[in-house]
Amino acid sequence: MIDYIVVGLGLAGITFCETLARHGKSFVAVDDESQQATKVAGGLYNPVVLKRFNPVWMAEEQLAFAIPFYKALEEKLGENLLYPSRIKRRFASIDEQNQWFEASDHPRLKNVLLQELQANTNPNIAAPFGFGIVAHSGRLATSLLVERYTELLRKQDQLIGESFLFDELQILGEGVQYRHIMARQIVFATGFGLVKNPYFNYLPMQGSKGEYIKIHCPDLRETEILKGAFFVLPEGNDEYLVGATYAWKDFENTPTAKARQQLTEKLDRILNCDYKLISQQAGIRPTVTDRKPLLGRHPVHKDLYVLNGFGSRGVMIGPWAADLLYRNIEEGNSLPAEIDLSRFKKKYFEAGQASRGS
Ligand SMILES: Cc1cc2nc3c(=O)[nH]c(=O)nc-3n(C[C@H](O)[C@H](O)[C@H](O)COP(=O)(O)OP(=O)(O)OC[C@H]3O[C@@H](n4cnc5c(N)ncnc54)[C@H](O)[C@@H]3O)c2cc1C
Repeated sequence: MIDYIVVGLGLAGITFCETLARHGKSFVAVDDESQQATKVAGGLYNPVVLKRFNPVWMAEEQLAFAIPFYKALEEKLGENLLYPSRIKRRFASIDEQNQWFEASDHPRLKNVLLQELQANTNPNIAAPFGFGIVAHSGRLATSLLVERYTELLRKQDQLIGESFLFDELQILGEGVQYRHIMARQIVFATGFGLVKNPYFNYLPMQGSKGEYIKIHCPDLRETEILKGAFFVLPEGNDEYLVGATYAWKDFENTPTAKARQQLTEKLDRILNCDYKLISQQAGIRPTVTDRKPLLGRHPVHKDLYVLNGFGSRGVMIGPWAADLLYRNIEEGNSLPAEIDLSRFKKKYFEAGQASRGS
């Protein structure tokens, strides 16, 4: 019997698998590439909400965990994954500058929002009110991480590259069996794919579609991350990612003309130079109704777990949440109530699903 089956190899599955590997636990992962939030993510980490300049929930705790975690992964995979960078937040008005000053007094933002404003010196950007600078932020190369981690597990014979078939899961008295594999526990880290999971589809996964465009813009010459209505992320070779949008009713991973128009319209307002559209990509963020992660054990089946609900902040939440779930399962530590999926236990019983899958 192995220790774990992990279903899903996005940020949730990878951070959990890696946590298992660091603790010497045995596991196999199953992934069918049906969801792609991690692959298309901008990969930003940033301790402040840049709309109203509020601290991001648990950002300090999560970053303190995430940065060393990803650095160790860089070493293990022999690949650069982390790109620390400041963010230049474009001000739309004097009023916003004042809000920035006010926010920079907040004890949790003192070292994050730099007091000194930066005037715009780039003639190809329209920013008459200048920029506020956010420190302690940057990007993780999420798509490369998925590629390399998947490769590693494949090499180590720890990956089943197929859809997980729920009909083939048997819940034993102790542990589970999936086809010929017996495991002590199974962790579902399937992102928005959670809605198709018969054991956990009572959970209020809302989902939010996000889209980026990639442009080629040789005259822009920006090396730092820009934030106006959307992020503009320098990718090298005069290419930039611009996004991401939010949509709440379309759950297909396909790019839309509507998002493209939204992005280019906003971009045109801040750029004074031409650009060429290269590509567009879309994915579904696993967003929960209360905007908090979803971790923990099934209300009835004690060896079934979920790691999900990372919403728009998977980079920061992943390593921290994976560690909390690991310690919950292996050491019996309780999960913080606000992220424990047992906060939705009532829904499970209300939905009359207590007998499902048992
Ligand atoms: C456009 C966009 C931009 C974003 N930008 C950022 C950002 O800048 N910073 C940030 O922190 N976050 C960002 N996010 C959010 C981030 O991508 C997510 O929080 C995170 O990637 C979620 O990871 P996950 O592993 O839960 O889900 P996913 O990445 O969706 O992974 C789920 C995995 O499970 C697999 N799976 C699902 N069902 C099955 C099944 N039945 N059988 C087998 N495998 C299955 C899927 O194939 C997939 O690989 C962005 C998201 C989008 C869409």
